[in-house]
Amino acid sequence: MGDLKFPCVCIFCGQSIIVDDGVSFATVDEADKWAAEHCKCDDARAARDKAKVMDNVKGEIDLLFGREHDCFSAELRKFLLDGANLVIDGVFDSIQVNLGYGTKASIKPSVKNVLNITRTDLRTTTREV
Ligand SMILES: [Zn+2]
Repeated sequence: MGDLKFPCVCIFCGQSIIVDDGVSFATVDEADKWAAEHCKCDDARAARDKAKVMDNVKGEIDLLFGREHDCFSAELRKFLLDGANLVIDGVFDSIQVNLGYGTKASIKPSVKNVLNITRTDLRTTTREV
């Protein structure tokens, strides 16, 4: 008995997507996710683009507030990532957080790109995404 087969339908546009040979899914959710990753509609493309941006945002947040900075927890980095997501979605114009230890984080839209993520303590470091 092989893997279960599910119809692959894009969650954004409802279009059925032809599955590549050898690709199969254990759940309907997996099939839908695959369809959204392969559909050529504008909404699926936009979702893929945003996922890429959020990966980069996570990388920059980890760099600025990551492991080598022991005082900043994984929960704090998750909070900043969620905040960045809300700035990208336009829920907030920007966010600024006082992290304690004399450090502030700010996340705001970038003039040139998507976001500026700034850490300010003894010196200011801005990463553009
Ligand atoms: Zn689609």
